[in-house]
Amino acid sequence: MKQQVKDVPHYINGKFVTTVQEEVFENISPFTNQTINRVASGNKADIDLAVDAAKKAFYGEWGQLKIKERLAYIYKIADVIDEHIDEIAPLESFDTGLPISQTKKMVSRAAYNFRFYAEMVATRMVGEAYQVDDEFLNYTIHKPVGVAGLITPWNAPFMLETWKLAPALATGNTVVLKPAEWSPLTANRLAEIIDKVGLPDGVFNVVHGYGETAGAALVSHPDVPLISFTGETTTGSEIMKNGADSLKRFSMELGGKSPIIVFEDADVERALDACTWGIFSFNGERCTANSRLYVHESIASTFIEQLKERIFNIKVGDPLNENTQVGPLIHKEHYENVRSYLDLAKEEGCEVISGHAPRNSEGNYVPPTLILHAKNNMRIVQEEIFGPVIAAMTFTDEAEVIHLANDVRYGLAGYVWTKDIQRGHRVAQAIDSGMLWVNAQNVRDLRTPFGGSKHSGIGREGGHYAFDFYTETQIIHVALKDHYIPQFGK
Ligand code: NAD
Repeated sequence: MKQQVKDVPHYINGKFVTTVQEEVFENISPFTNQTINRVASGNKADIDLAVDAAKKAFYGEWGQLKIKERLAYIYKIADVIDEHIDEIAPLESFDTGLPISQTKKMVSRAAYNFRFYAEMVATRMVGEAYQVDDEFLNYTIHKPVGVAGLITPWNAPFMLETWKLAPALATGNTVVLKPAEWSPLTANRLAEIIDKVGLPDGVFNVVHGYGETAGAALVSHPDVPLISFTGETTTGSEIMKNGADSLKRFSMELGGKSPIIVFEDADVERALDACTWGIFSFNGERCTANSRLYVHESIASTFIEQLKERIFNIKVGDPLNENTQVGPLIHKEHYENVRSYLDLAKEEGCEVISGHAPRNSEGNYVPPTLILHAKNNMRIVQEEIFGPVIAAMTFTDEAEVIHLANDVRYGLAGYVWTKDIQRGHRVAQAIDSGMLWVNAQNVRDLRTPFGGSKHSGIGREGGHYAFDFYTETQIIHVALKDHYIPQFGK
């Protein structure tokens, strides 16, 4: 696996620039643990320049465009991404260790994010009118908020960056993106694409760097009224504290520890496919991964035997190989953290069954792993491991499994497998999570709300729900005739 990659600069005010203080950090390959390239390491001074440019663009050319003209840029971005899928996907795999067969789909979805939001703004960004007899007509309009700060993680970088960028730009905001420091390459490619499309200077800016420096400066900047964040729950809470003084509007997409519940009447073969894909796709570094399996005790031994078989057959290897299903984890530090949970599982008295990983590799490989004899109160069940690791447990009745599924601090997603239609709905509605799938893997419908409850998030993005975050809803009250006005002091 070889790629020649240039050093990565920031993209500020329509130009690719180095850090004001000339600082850089090294970007490390998950496959070799060798340096890939150097990346500009932004600080407050760089964020200040980027926010300044974004603010000028918001009040300048971008803010003056007709909707049709603005959306023409959004469609064009989608087209250029589509034209470059075969080049962006390998770059993403090279940087993150995600298998190429999966990054190709993510990049294609990234293009669709732009097309989808162009269509949404054209057709669904509508206000409401409230008639009050023949006296008043009150109506709402949506206005862009200003400079949107977007802070993104490394687990599906290009897709997640565009998932935020598309609605932010389509609704008329300007943007400063702070991508994750472990996956800077495709964020830079996104800047190149937008540069090629020719958006006015300052509409889109990228400042690379660490969360504690570049990220924190963006969060506390007084001219950034909204922050859309995806990442760990603890980081989200820190960011909310840091943004409190400037009264930021936040969208928080945080961690998860989602259950998959397989009842005794489930279509076992399909449930098994969904369970295996749901935890081992994206190398297990997936916010909506079904990392807790609850299988009914009457089918548990067969289900778990078959899951074991799958685990040993999963193809773990070079992320750039089309046949690879699981690649190396993003970073040595994350790898050590995931491995530490496997040791913890053994200490907690579990059986840890691991599939195969490449031998003699320098990559951050954790083999697909199944943990047996887990109990709900164990740390490996309560905490997000964010790797290819699933904890299996059994249950006897519906009330028990609902209790177990809800007995964690997270509430992002959930999956229920049963052929009993009433039970399917009942259990789905009883699970405390933002999103539930019945007899399905995680298939997204972009029109629907995306987000978590409890410690998995605040707010919803997706569909028209994104308008609540990326726009200001203004109400205009218009008197249609002379209504009564008290005449104080007359
Ligand atoms: P992270 O919280 O470590 O980092 C995310 C981003 O925040 C990075 O860009 C980082 O530089 C920045 N950051 C860190 N500290 C900051 C600070 N003090 N101020 C401002 N920015 C700061 O998360 P990660 O390890 O990159 O990503 C994995 C996490 O993301 C997992 O918990 C996963 O579940 C979650 N995730 C959630 C969703 C969702 O939609 N709910 C989607 C994908 C990933």
